[in-house]
Amino acid sequence: MMERVTNDFGGSRAARQIHAMYATRLMTEIYHLVQPGGHHTLCGLRISRVTSERKSNTLQLVNELPAKVTICKHCERIQGQENNLAADLRGSNADL
Ligand SMILES: [Zn+2]
Repeated sequence: MMERVTNDFGGSRAARQIHAMYATRLMTEIYHLVQPGGHHTLCGLRISRVTSERKSNTLQLVNELPAKVTICKHCERIQGQENNLAADLRGSNADL
């Protein structure tokens, strides 16, 4: 008997294309991945929707990343777990 693993990214509920969104703080060079609802990062941080506040410690949503930022290692690990169907995507040609 096979246990079928479904998750929000690959399951039947969210079968359409994922809208890529990220969250960054102004003063850091780390970005986080955003959960489907857009309220929290994958690693559980809360994202501010108030873009008029320019607090450097506030996570804000962005659709495009600056060139020099690095993924949050917690988000990366969590995303890796969710994508583990696609084996280890550590290489550079994982573009399916
Ligand atoms: Zn994170």
